Amino acid sequence: MINLAYDREHIWHPYSCIPPPNAPLPVAATEGRHIILEDGRRLVDGMSSWWAAIHGYNHPELVLAVARQLKTMPHIMFGGLTHEPAVDLAEKLVTLSPVPLKKVFFADSGSVAVEVALKIALQYWMARRKPQKHIFLTVRNGYHGDTFGAMSVTDPDNGMHSLFAGVLPKHYFAPAPHMGFDLKLDEPADDIAALAAFLDHHHDEIAAIILEPIVQGAGGMRFYRPAYVRQLRAIADDYNVLLIFDEIATGFGRTGKLFACEWAGISPDIMTVGKALTGGMMTLAATLTTEEVAYTLCNNPPRALMHGPTFMANPTACAAANASIELLLKSAWQDRIQHIEAHLQEQLMPLSDHPGVADVRVLGAIGVIELERDDLAPRLQDMAVREGAWLRPFGRLFYTMPAFNIEDDELATLTGAMITAVKQVVRP
Ligand SMILES: *Cc1c(COP(=O)(O)O)cnc(C)c1O
Repeated sequence: MINLAYDREHIWHPYSCIPPPNAPLPVAATEGRHIILEDGRRLVDGMSSWWAAIHGYNHPELVLAVARQLKTMPHIMFGGLTHEPAVDLAEKLVTLSPVPLKKVFFADSGSVAVEVALKIALQYWMARRKPQKHIFLTVRNGYHGDTFGAMSVTDPDNGMHSLFAGVLPKHYFAPAPHMGFDLKLDEPADDIAALAAFLDHHHDEIAAIILEPIVQGAGGMRFYRPAYVRQLRAIADDYNVLLIFDEIATGFGRTGKLFACEWAGISPDIMTVGKALTGGMMTLAATLTTEEVAYTLCNNPPRALMHGPTFMANPTACAAANASIELLLKSAWQDRIQHIEAHLQEQLMPLSDHPGVADVRVLGAIGVIELERDDLAPRLQDMAVREGAWLRPFGRLFYTMPAFNIEDDELATLTGAMITAVKQVVRP
């Protein structure tokens, strides 16, 4: 039996205190799209362990790949040494990502991949003898991670900047893009114009624009139009700043394209991936960049990208990532995403008329119910668990991003639980 009393007294859980206000559920095992609790209850997983487990849990091909790697070489330092899992994975990432992205840095978590992206941009401008270009421009409602650099470009309100004021570097925040993947706006749209205005005034000191293309994840689960992303590329070029896309949540198919920036048909100068990279098996992330950025950085003092985590390119994590990408590419993932999208749309959209529901939106394998109130998450979660689904709402957002290979009856359990929970719990 899991010693819950010990957990309660000694262990931090995400964004929580000790003891936590709501006890975590004890998990005994996972299986396919199911989480098996210690008391034997089976929950259909609607979270993919935060966007990561895109093939469900314990997938035999991923388990085998990891087991094989554990036998030959679980880990080896990456300084002065290299190995096949890393080289294979780099080749896959370079092949699959937008064409100009050719150089790969392996990081150990998404936040670190973002730190590396920011560092690359800073070092790039130092190399070009423009060290004054050291500020980042981003949009509100973004989320880029919990380390200090990543936090400094995360939404100032959601990201609790006031808590760390004085420690966090100050960057520029343009208004968030208007919501709506299908939104049609007259040109020039005011959201992109607001961002361009920042560049017009401050491009001399701006190193890069960083944002999550198409889907803003943890900062509000907001979807926005590809045209915005396209115009962003043009503006970044006009004002001579780098463009960083954080695809840590969106990468590997979640929105219906392998990478969300493909909706816009453009590519960034720097891109981060993580979360689904290993199919949720273990922690790994990567920062990709162009020849031009890497070349500039490497041909000027200090002639090195100044980063190198202890567990960089962990072979077991790379082996998991290689297996996960192979599995994804040989699956009919695009059909799967479309199928999930259609189901989420059909089942969740009618809730838009429910009192207390502010908005319902679906894109790819992401379904979001936005509520008017922000204090219902714990009750919604409890109700979903009672209905056999694992969902983890936060604030005003009740959402799901299931595994791509979820079965129809499992998907029905998820949306059924969401509908029941909203009907039971949500009042204006
Ligand atoms: C989750 C996330 C991160 C941070 O990744 P961690 O692995 O949690 O450090 C960064 N950016 C985006 C868009 C994310 O969704």
